[in-house]
Amino acid sequence: MLFNEFDLDPRLLKAISKLGFTKPTEIQRKAIPAALSGADLMASAQTGTGKTAAFVLPTLQHLFRRPKNSGLGPRVLVLTPTRELAIQIDKNIRQFNRFSKIVTGLIVGGMAYSPQLKILRNRVDILVATPGRLMDHMERGKVDFSRLEIFILDEADRMLDMGFIDDVKDIAAVMPQNRQTLLFSATLEGSVLNIAKKLLRKPQRISLATNHDRHRSIRQHMHQADSKAHKHKLLAHHLENNQLTKALIFTSTKRGADQLARNLRLKDHKTASLHGDMSQNKRRQTVENLRKGRVEMLVATDVAARGLDIKGISHVINFDLPTVAEDYIHRIGRTGRAGAAGCAISLVGSSDWQKLAQIEKLTGRKINREVIEGLEPTGSEPKVKRRAKARPKTKSGLAQDVKKTKSSKSKRRRGHSSALQKTKQTRVRKAA
Ligand code: AMP
Repeated sequence: MLFNEFDLDPRLLKAISKLGFTKPTEIQRKAIPAALSGADLMASAQTGTGKTAAFVLPTLQHLFRRPKNSGLGPRVLVLTPTRELAIQIDKNIRQFNRFSKIVTGLIVGGMAYSPQLKILRNRVDILVATPGRLMDHMERGKVDFSRLEIFILDEADRMLDMGFIDDVKDIAAVMPQNRQTLLFSATLEGSVLNIAKKLLRKPQRISLATNHDRHRSIRQHMHQADSKAHKHKLLAHHLENNQLTKALIFTSTKRGADQLARNLRLKDHKTASLHGDMSQNKRRQTVENLRKGRVEMLVATDVAARGLDIKGISHVINFDLPTVAEDYIHRIGRTGRAGAAGCAISLVGSSDWQKLAQIEKLTGRKINREVIEGLEPTGSEPKVKRRAKARPKTKSGLAQDVKKTKSSKSKRRRGHSSALQKTKQTRVRKAA
């Protein structure tokens, strides 16, 4: 199938061809016609599958039509859990929009308010936002959703993991009821289904191939590590591999990321760390340094690395395993992108076996055990009692951090937002 078989405007087809995309990916083949039909949609897809274009293309196509309502507010809202992902989506929109004049805006935390207020004061067609900053603007009465026609909830599972559920509900509550809603999530289970039931109307459901199939281009293996020192030796061995050109190394804590990056720099590896304590500018600059090859390795935490789309990441190394099994899928999805081959290596210490069992349950495959000569583990693999659920109730340390800082803000907001809801709902009902 080719892109010109979709009912897309020539301006979009020209932008697609400029990007060098020849064939739509699986999620694009399934989601573009469904979204163009105007139906609500829930799709299981993660970064790396081409899901951004799967919702951006039909959305831009929709925006070539005249707006249903008059006003200046956004006709489309894309809500996404992290700044990095929001920035990435905004960039993608601009690429597809290069031959058209649809007005886009980005509303994320960690950036100055005044340019965002300017965006909200003027006509904007698509707004890409993270929930926290968007709520801040909404509480100040700066956001007008009366023109809203399409609501896209990206990485819904992650949004819920990060404690944004109340914000998502509050934001959706002030939108016109007759909007189209598209929900994308790595999984369509549990709490994601509950929120989908609240937000979507008779949605079409799209599921991609299994996690196992999706990561066929990534060679996954693990090493049993006796101790932290053993992990360092295993890591050092892999960093000497000539095929390792760009690597993303994951740790579970921000301090751990800084320490490991320092350590690697001392060994003359061009390394930087990337985590949530860094300013937005510094994070952007660090990612750019990896993209341009000024650094070869990033030691990152999950929150900071989410949404990263960098060509040529040859290796993802889990120095620490993630607490939430889904994060493993997101992490390894940074390599082996857009058809390239990738390698994902996990270093499994004594406290990681339960996490490994959860990951293997979720992905439905046993990760290859590998041993390096001279770096063999001393003990044998422990037997792990599997928990009933693939997804532990405890959130990852990072998710908890976010939740902790969010919860008081969230509570403060709930009071505000019910008032906000009432006033705005009246306005929206009139407009709808
Ligand atoms: P995403 O899942 O949206 O993060 O996209 C992953 C990567 O695939 C991005 O670098 C996209 O630019 C790229 N991509 C998206 N759609 C296509 C396509 N049809 N052909 C080739 N590359 C694509």
